Amino acid sequence: MKTQVGIIGGGPSGLLLSQLLHLRGIDSVVLEKRSREHVLGRIRAGVLEHGFAKLMREAQVGERMDREGQIHDGFGIAHDGRVDRVDLKALTGGNTVIVYGQTELTRDLYEGRDRLGGVIVHNAEDVIPHGFDTHRPFLTYRNGSGAGRIDCDFIIGCDGFHGVSRQSIPRDRIRTFERVYPFGWLGVLTRTKPVSPELIYARHERGFALCSLRSPVLSRYYIQVPLTETVEEWPDESFFEELRRRLPREVASALETAPSIEKSIAPLRSFVVEPMQCGRMFLAGDAAHIVPPTGARGLNSAASDIYYLYNALLDHYSRGDSGGLENYSQRALARVWKGQRFSWWMTTLLHKFPDSSAFDQHLQQTELDYLFSSPRALASLAENYVGLPF
Ligand SMILES: Cc1cc2nc3c(=O)[nH]c(=O)nc-3n(C[C@H](O)[C@H](O)[C@H](O)COP(=O)(O)OP(=O)(O)OC[C@H]3O[C@@H](n4cnc5c(N)ncnc54)[C@H](O)[C@@H]3O)c2cc1C
Repeated sequence: MKTQVGIIGGGPSGLLLSQLLHLRGIDSVVLEKRSREHVLGRIRAGVLEHGFAKLMREAQVGERMDREGQIHDGFGIAHDGRVDRVDLKALTGGNTVIVYGQTELTRDLYEGRDRLGGVIVHNAEDVIPHGFDTHRPFLTYRNGSGAGRIDCDFIIGCDGFHGVSRQSIPRDRIRTFERVYPFGWLGVLTRTKPVSPELIYARHERGFALCSLRSPVLSRYYIQVPLTETVEEWPDESFFEELRRRLPREVASALETAPSIEKSIAPLRSFVVEPMQCGRMFLAGDAAHIVPPTGARGLNSAASDIYYLYNALLDHYSRGDSGGLENYSQRALARVWKGQRFSWWMTTLLHKFPDSSAFDQHLQQTELDYLFSSPRALASLAENYVGLPF
């Protein structure tokens, strides 16, 4: 098979890029390791920046998001037995975020690809990118119908943190930067009315908690747990009991519970690879960078990569201008690192670190006091949360 852009990974990054390119007459093929059901069974991000939403509309897949997504003007930070509100709209001069689950967004993207007749090869095993240092890169893979080969002009690695694209780049051509946090988030999804119409991030001496939501009838709750713990050690009753302990009394007493319909533990990691390209292969989204989910930057950072790549490929194919491709890594990384900084800062502000000293805890407390006593400090938080421009 021959195409212009060979994309590894059918998550949000790969699908969005493929859809945007298709609408501008640029051909692509997506190779996805898993079945569609598997990809759509993953519960992940939920908070979208307006920049992301704009791209979804441009990709003609934003209709359901605009209908069902909820605009959030603010969120709460619970600490010392109370909830302080971060008024995003007032602090940023009108900016907000949209709460719309990654699962739903991915479903919309698949439907968009199907509508236009986009090619997505599912269950593509042993995908290998070849020749990206030459002008004739190609991809090989295996699936139910045998071995396949895709010749293309460019390879885009959108295959997440554990994918093959980044790992195929020779070690001496990239540098990686990483911080692994000594805890994870245990997340539970329930069919209940969310405890609050806005997200509540909670700092507590027992550990961090988050009250999030996917819709008016679907709640997503998280608690910080040590990495050594497993889902089996957390039956629903224990989870909700612990969650209640970490929330201010009036929030805890309003919490509705129901049997979990999904439960998983996500480790927390900060990671960046530099550069985000090697010859004719470009990395985007989680293939190139990971953030801890505090601050909701992961999916949104993927969106800005796709924006830069899409425009760079458009310039290349429509005007023969390859400047955008040459500068892609530099441009994308400038924003990626800002997202890293913010995610690290939010994580440090709100989590309990096992090795933190009394001094560290005082600093954490002081940081919160400062935040809610300084409109400028709060405005900086809000500016980052709604997303820096791209
Ligand atoms: C448990 C969890 C919770 C999260 N919560 C949040 C949150 O609350 N807020 C937020 O902003 N972000 C969150 N994130 C991050 C967010 O989900 C990611 O940033 C986002 O999924 C990135 O999209 P992507 O398309 O780049 O990568 P992915 O979604 O990882 O998609 C990569 C795709 O590539 C496929 N693939 C992998 N290897 C191969 C291969 N060798 N060949 C072919 N295909 C391959 C995978 O099956 C997958 O479908 C969370 C992530 C996880 C894991």
